[in-house]
Amino acid sequence: MIVKLSRTGPEVIEAVTAALAALGGQVRRLEFPFGTFLAALDLEDAPSADAVARLRLATAWGSKVHGYPRTHASSDGGPERATRAEDPPLLAMIQALAGVEWARKAGTKPILAARAQNPQGTRVPLGRMEVGGEALALVAGPCSVESREQVVATARFVAAYGATALRGGAFKPRTSPYVFQGLGRPGVELLREAGDAAGLPIVTEVMEPGEVEFMAKYVDCFQVGARNMSNSPLLRAVGRAGKPVLLKRGPSSTLVELVLAAEYILLEGNPHVILCERGIRTFETATRNTLDLNAVPVLKGMTHLPVLVDPSHGTGRREAVTPMARAAVAAGADGIAVEVHPDPSRALSDGEQSLHLPEFRRLAEQLRPVAEAVGRRLDLPESLPFAPNQVPLIRRAMGWGGTHP
Ligand code: PEP
Ligand code: MN
Repeated sequence: MIVKLSRTGPEVIEAVTAALAALGGQVRRLEFPFGTFLAALDLEDAPSADAVARLRLATAWGSKVHGYPRTHASSDGGPERATRAEDPPLLAMIQALAGVEWARKAGTKPILAARAQNPQGTRVPLGRMEVGGEALALVAGPCSVESREQVVATARFVAAYGATALRGGAFKPRTSPYVFQGLGRPGVELLREAGDAAGLPIVTEVMEPGEVEFMAKYVDCFQVGARNMSNSPLLRAVGRAGKPVLLKRGPSSTLVELVLAAEYILLEGNPHVILCERGIRTFETATRNTLDLNAVPVLKGMTHLPVLVDPSHGTGRREAVTPMARAAVAAGADGIAVEVHPDPSRALSDGEQSLHLPEFRRLAEQLRPVAEAVGRRLDLPESLPFAPNQVPLIRRAMGWGGTHP
């Protein structure tokens, strides 16, 4: 059960908490910018008659409901319980307590994440910006952190061309156990170093609850990847870490399932969840996934959380990334998460969908007018330190080869 409190003092909150606890719930207090809630988890279906009677007395229902509650001995000879048929309208009684705005049974529909909780939309702080505000977020970087040179060069470049955060995986959820699995903890440290060198906050994937504590010292935003969207222990752990979370949609998950996954994080008292559409599995095989841009307006109607789109995993094809990024912004996304690599042909993961550095520059330039057309902003740096023709020099200096557009 979730109880929303009206603006009220600590004694009133204490009294409502005690009433819920007496009914058998594990009560947790949740403070959000959009309100104070009490979550009563595992509240008994048929609380003891005593607890119900006490609740009734604490509310106006004590006088309104005649002869109430009626009880019967439970079949196992245990203490008397209120019967189901004669159950008091618990919700109504809780709602009648002083300081309660509303009470709802937690069902399959999200409550804390629901748009109605915060109709103007939640803004998630990430570095110098707020995701979900007027300015778009541009989260860019390599699929995997591979080396200091690779990640620092990418970070500096994407920062210079308008990225608002640096992404890069150190713990990689790979389909095959025979391919590069990521650098692990040293990769997290390298990403931090690159973020600092470029002045960008960092976003990186955490795959297991046991790594949350270590990673929290380095990251600005945890990524929960598509494969882990339904891993509730991980969702709870990142919820408790109190850092923003980029939550990616599972490739076979519905939008309601995605929002319910976000609900786990919110239930730990962490309001800073960013949802991410990254493509779903369909019958189509010409693209790695099918980028479901329906998700953008539909999620925005369902929830108050910001929504990013990842056209890299959503298409799996470099040539489709920029057009789908433009479409995502046109559809109302709060930003883009995109893979960029100084030499995609040598990338240790997802090279075929990673943008070359100059392509990232073009992406940023092309997104700007689309953003403006839908009433948003993309803040690009005034002076751009690298001319496009300098990119081959940067790459040669790093020992990277290959040709690119
Ligand atoms: C990634 O962002 O590199 C990644 C593995 O994404 P997803 O979880 O969406 O597959
Ligand atoms: Mn990837």
